[in-house]
Amino acid sequence: MSDFEKIISFLREYDGPDVRLMEVCGTHTGAIARNGIPSMLSPHIHLISGPGCPVCVTVTAVIDRLVELAEKENTVVLTFGDLIRVKGTTKSLADAKADGGHVEMVYSPLDTVRMAQQDPSREYVFAAIGFETTTPVYAMVLQEAIEKNIHNLKLLTSLKTMPNVIRWVCENGGNIDGFIAPGHVSVITGSRAYEELSQEFQIPFVVAGFEGPQLLATIYALTGMRGHAGVRNLYREAVTPEGNPAAQEMVNRYFEPSDASWRGMGTIAGSGMTLRKEYAQYDAGSYGLDEDHMPAGCSCASVLTGKISPVQCPLFGRSCTPDNAHGACMVSTEGSCYNYFISGRKD
Ligand code: SF4
Repeated sequence: MSDFEKIISFLREYDGPDVRLMEVCGTHTGAIARNGIPSMLSPHIHLISGPGCPVCVTVTAVIDRLVELAEKENTVVLTFGDLIRVKGTTKSLADAKADGGHVEMVYSPLDTVRMAQQDPSREYVFAAIGFETTTPVYAMVLQEAIEKNIHNLKLLTSLKTMPNVIRWVCENGGNIDGFIAPGHVSVITGSRAYEELSQEFQIPFVVAGFEGPQLLATIYALTGMRGHAGVRNLYREAVTPEGNPAAQEMVNRYFEPSDASWRGMGTIAGSGMTLRKEYAQYDAGSYGLDEDHMPAGCSCASVLTGKISPVQCPLFGRSCTPDNAHGACMVSTEGSCYNYFISGRKD
């Protein structure tokens, strides 16, 4: 029997104490669904999706502010992908666009600089949503705008960082036995980012890539490490202990740590990044955007904190589907509800 076959056999036949493992990263949620991993595990191994889908954890006050900007004369909101379909208190950016608002999707971040440069008569606002992985991209956009002396491009930031939200999960009864540490985030932060948390809560972390066999090896490692502190890195082709110092330096030049509001979790101290005061002229009104009004009946807050599985939401697959999403967790391709739905996952 090969090592991989032994891992598969162990995970299928595991009969020890129940193990609850959280994948914090939305891309892992998608990879777990695509690879059919839940169906390969013993009923004693539970995979819980955490708060790592950036669109899903964005509070409605941020969407409302973007909608307000999109409806202003001479202002254009620029955004990546899924955010356009997420509802604020009353409208999504797609609704605002349908009502005549100015919203454009961008596929390359530097397109934002080009658009602002070509049309100085309008103000362009880039929706800067994301985790440690995308914050360097926004720093790069800002640097480019400054170097080109462009003043009609601003950022509306809702930037989050992982360590303090993981601490929140540990402190608020997540009953998690181990974390599948986010692969993309760890490329930037390095695997050392989890050492303090691991020691503090005596919980193991394993950094994983996105291939099925590596995810299975990660689950195998975490199951064996249950009850013990420790950080292991199985994604060595991309993640080092210290991360990417150049990206970290770029981020720290333009952004500083701040408190941040999370859907379902409220404000978590030190869990976000905002523009440094010296770059405040590039901010489109990001401060104080804390309010969150989830759609009626939507349980995204409980899903994001691992309190319930998406299938336990009464609306899942009934009135809430990817084509008619009630909450952000069903809109985003990194959302738990979306991934449970498209993979037919029932656990
Ligand atoms: S299934 Fe829909 S309504 Fe239920 S938690 Fe998920 S997004 Fe919200």
